Amino acid sequence: MKLKFLGGAEIVGKLGMLVENEGANLMFEYGLRLVKKEPPEFPMPSPDVDGVFITHSHLDHSGAVPRLVQETDCDVYCNDLTMNISSLLFFDSIKIAKAEGYSGVLGYGDNDVKKVWQNYRSFSVGETRSIAGLEIVSHSAGHIPGAQMYEIKGRETTLFTGDLHTQNTRLTYGAKPVKCDNLVIEATYAGRNHPARPKTEALLQQKVREVVERGGTAIIPCFAVGRMQEVMLILKDLHLDMWVDGMGKTVNGYYADHPDYLRSIKDFKAAKRKFNPVRTASTRDKARQGQVIITTSGMLDGGPVLHYLNDQKDNAKSAVMMVGYQAENSNGRMLLEKGMVETREGLMKVNCELMTFDLSAHADHDELLKFIHGCEPEKVVLMHSDNREELAQDLEGDFEVFMPTSGTTFEV
Ligand SMILES: [Zn+2]
Ligand SMILES: [Zn+2]
Repeated sequence: MKLKFLGGAEIVGKLGMLVENEGANLMFEYGLRLVKKEPPEFPMPSPDVDGVFITHSHLDHSGAVPRLVQETDCDVYCNDLTMNISSLLFFDSIKIAKAEGYSGVLGYGDNDVKKVWQNYRSFSVGETRSIAGLEIVSHSAGHIPGAQMYEIKGRETTLFTGDLHTQNTRLTYGAKPVKCDNLVIEATYAGRNHPARPKTEALLQQKVREVVERGGTAIIPCFAVGRMQEVMLILKDLHLDMWVDGMGKTVNGYYADHPDYLRSIKDFKAAKRKFNPVRTASTRDKARQGQVIITTSGMLDGGPVLHYLNDQKDNAKSAVMMVGYQAENSNGRMLLEKGMVETREGLMKVNCELMTFDLSAHADHDELLKFIHGCEPEKVVLMHSDNREELAQDLEGDFEVFMPTSGTTFEV
């Protein structure tokens, strides 16, 4: 089986893996990479493919699919939840590109998203499909609700994980190893381990309570897909005036409509009831007086979070609680390092307390090792990481390890 990454092997972002096997051409993911203040980056152009398989809706995995469909008219495989949320993110990307003036670079518009829907073939977790002479099985990947791994069965069995989490979180159950010959696995957290999750959750609850008790507002910037809902579940038992704003509100609706992909629909519905959604200007005014606000964007590069931050910037009793990854050059990183963010009006100094919490939805170094051993593969391909070496060192001797670079074809 020939594999070629068109992007995303040695970095986190713009992932795309081409599989050539006995006449079949399949693409796994076709994502983009967001770069602050610049248009996004894309994987290399693709040859004609029979289908693209999306593991989950995050844009680094799905964001270039409308381009791929426009160019190759291929079928699109993922589950209903992933398709609905991907579609929401595609339309949002089109809107942002228009506002920022790089629609041409994005290269797709509303009609291309419609075309993705036309070519969409529903493929749910647990199902098996015969596609271009290969049997493909979908398994839960644990990362966020609806995230799935693909097992490709030809002469050999190959597992493609996409983003992976093996621990149970409030939202989803962790992924279980799948026996395979070749394992293509993400390694975002290679070389790093997460602190114990229950401790982090308890600390977040305690800090939110402290901030509110001293008369401040807790602002929690979150990605709309996954992290926002996880934080809602962690905070759902606090008796406080809590609000959600931004695109995550729509995602909440999709999650509630797909209970099979949630660990507990009962808990999720309870969390949804506890948080008031901001829908109109008057509800936003109420939210501004609220005690807890969870809102996009997760890295503070736009979105309603900047309005709430502007309200609270001089209130030392308030806090900004960072619960997600902050990329280099992001506003979130700048806030943590310099105590300020960039807005349309210029630099804004923030005098609130700043805190960070590790609520990652990715398997860490030790969890990756355990998962890999559980799959019992002969060959391990490490991808979706800018720090693969430490993990590779721990695997050498037990497995044949590959660390491909994008653009190079290799055989497994
Ligand atoms: Zn992801
Ligand atoms: Zn990812």
